[in-house]
Amino acid sequence: MSEEKRSFQAEVARLLHLMVNAVYSDKEVFLRELISNASDACDKLRYLALTDPSLTADNAEFEIAVSIDTSARTLTIADNGIGMDRDDLIELLGTIARSGTGAFVQEMTGDAKQDAAMIGQFGVGFYSVFMVAGKVEVTSRKAGTEQAWKWTSDGAGEYTVAEAERDGRGTEIVVHLREGEDEWLQPYRLQQVIKTYSDHIALPITLDTGEGPKRVNEASAIWTRPKSEVSEEQYTEFYHHVGHAADEPWLTLHYRAEGKVEYSVLLYVPTQRPMDLFDPARQHRVKLYVKRVFITDDCDGLVPPYLRFLRGVVDCEDLPLNISREMLQSTPMVAHLRQAIAKRVLTELKKKADKDAEGYATFWKTFGPVLKEGLYEDAERRDELLALARFHSTHQGEGGDELVSMADYVGRMKDGQAAIYTISGDNLATLRKSPQLEGFKARGVEVLLLTDPVDDFWQATVPDFEGKPLRSVTRGAADLSSLGKVEGDEAGDDDARPADLATLIAVLKQNLEGAVKDVRESDRLTDSAVCLVADDGDMDMRLERMLKAHGQIDQASSRILEINPRHALIKTLVERATQPGASDALADAAHLLLDQARIIEGDPVPDPAAFAQRLASVMAKGLAA
Ligand code: ADP
Ligand code: MG
Repeated sequence: MSEEKRSFQAEVARLLHLMVNAVYSDKEVFLRELISNASDACDKLRYLALTDPSLTADNAEFEIAVSIDTSARTLTIADNGIGMDRDDLIELLGTIARSGTGAFVQEMTGDAKQDAAMIGQFGVGFYSVFMVAGKVEVTSRKAGTEQAWKWTSDGAGEYTVAEAERDGRGTEIVVHLREGEDEWLQPYRLQQVIKTYSDHIALPITLDTGEGPKRVNEASAIWTRPKSEVSEEQYTEFYHHVGHAADEPWLTLHYRAEGKVEYSVLLYVPTQRPMDLFDPARQHRVKLYVKRVFITDDCDGLVPPYLRFLRGVVDCEDLPLNISREMLQSTPMVAHLRQAIAKRVLTELKKKADKDAEGYATFWKTFGPVLKEGLYEDAERRDELLALARFHSTHQGEGGDELVSMADYVGRMKDGQAAIYTISGDNLATLRKSPQLEGFKARGVEVLLLTDPVDDFWQATVPDFEGKPLRSVTRGAADLSSLGKVEGDEAGDDDARPADLATLIAVLKQNLEGAVKDVRESDRLTDSAVCLVADDGDMDMRLERMLKAHGQIDQASSRILEINPRHALIKTLVERATQPGASDALADAAHLLLDQARIIEGDPVPDPAAFAQRLASVMAKGLAA
């Protein structure tokens, strides 16, 4: 069969264009990517051979061989892994195969310099070879098949696929170096780069610079080595490999469990959020090995979803090697591993929190929203998770960004304070100005400011912390009387509040019938005239807003309008309310009060035209006087 010419998928063409013109200084990542692919290919075949040994009957030893040809100016990377057939080559090397690379393409700005800066961060895979290559030839034979195929491209929009010859299974990639890329023919340089990127890889890698192949790496799985024999750099390098990551690990956790179940764990907490952290699938990426054989990187149930930011490896001695991936998640062993790993990780996080509060706060800002999912998903670990949680709080003034723990909060509770008060909303700055906070601030009572959408979900399932119930300040009656008087209000309430408040309340209720559940005097306001709160049994207002936005509920429940009897406007309205014809005269004012409260809350005004008319009419009257 003759050569077949094909075009790259548009996204790949864009990516290749960037690679070919890359002004990226750390071009060595291309070698890391090719070696990483070769190692993955061997892992895949080793796994398949567990159930079909004929696949590796010819040669059960896996290896990666790197060699150079100085006169041809080529660098060759060969493996005897799973290999690719014609369809694989087209599918895997002609389209964007992997989410990381896809994410990179999405983030591409079109500005070559800016985009190039992201190459190291994303790792972009196979295509990075075009940073140094003028032409690439991939010859591959899939394990279990006879026919080899050759894929060739110069990275300029097209590639060819043709039948080819190859002894034995696996893939050979010949990189024709571009002018100026002779660095990749220098034995010393190659040796150094390959060693850096492969020391943790558990299969032998050789380098042949013309004097026969020489071993470059140790080829022992890094997680099986004692801690004392692994350097910081090796840990980091393995993290980059196993996590497809480019940042530094924030926490490295390496231990071996012996006893009833034996397993090794090498897990990392990244510094930065991985790209897929908020994917709806909430899939973790920890790789499961059994006796050093890679089994899968999506074993459901190995890591709880609220720890899905972890990267690394769990290698278990006690699972049968030939267990199918489908069977895995239902084995009690996997449940045991999940429990044990979650427990250990939370313990380590606690240690970090105790030792380095500032560093821990950075971690919490990055992964706290994910960990908090555990508060409603993992009842068993709830107390540990609550102890790890950090919150913004009114304890700091405006602009304060320090985080507090529940224990800090409880330590600062006022005499007579029975509950932990919270308020939730999307924006910290707006939240700090919420009218519902006024009464608490005035009495020096701290309120936790919850800004993550997930907060609304766990609050419904976490009844208390150390016996202190959690209460939203936007829900139910506030009853702040037990928490002391407002400063500067020592003269007592009665002077400040008008006696005929009940009359105004009746007038407002009459006018707002159907629009609010109730109108009542507020304890929680000091500066604002009005605010909305949810009734005791009703859903918290932000949760309801969120569910409504997602179409999960149609109708928001009606709210309670609270009015501040000490506010000048309310006092004026009380006076008017006691005169004849009050109900009609105050109709506009009643609706404006309610709309005002909605606006402060960030809720839409249901009838903007009516709102504008009322406002205009009231202003006209007011200014005429
Ligand atoms: P990733 O490795 O993250 O999936 P790459 O761009 O590095 O992304 O590779 C794309 C795909 O091409 C791989 O997922 C794999 O299926 C295939 N591939 C690349 N190199 C090899 C190889 N040496 N042997 C077998 N398959 C390979
Ligand atoms: Mg890859």
